[in-house]
Amino acid sequence: MTKKFWIGLIIILFIALMGVSYQKFLKNPHCAYDGSPVTPIYEIDIVLKEKSTKKFCSIYCASRWFKNNVTLIDHVVVTDEIRGNKIDSYMAYFVESELITNETNDNRIHVFQQRQDAITHAEKFHGTMTDDPFSLDE
Ligand SMILES: [Zn+2]
Repeated sequence: MTKKFWIGLIIILFIALMGVSYQKFLKNPHCAYDGSPVTPIYEIDIVLKEKSTKKFCSIYCASRWFKNNVTLIDHVVVTDEIRGNKIDSYMAYFVESELITNETNDNRIHVFQQRQDAITHAEKFHGTMTDDPFSLDE
């Protein structure tokens, strides 16, 4: 093994590592409310009237930001936690249960596209159906 070989190997490893962390950074945006990484299956997108989008890690963070910025908001897109589908919040079913989605903020509100999934979850984790926390109706 020559010295050149090892230096080359270290450079390759370094480049690979940079690529991985760059991808990670791109794939996992950070929550606009508390800065924690956004897990795709729990992602909430708040679309503003000026067309930009804010991403949140949980219903907890998104609903808090929502309350303070209602006048700026166009609509809210939530993620069905069973299938990962993005849906408008007014079409989704929300369940508050004993299961925590986010350890840092204790979020217990879950999102489902199908009513049956919401009912099944509620039965399994002692939950109750709750209203859309992102309702824009005054
Ligand atoms: Zn958050």
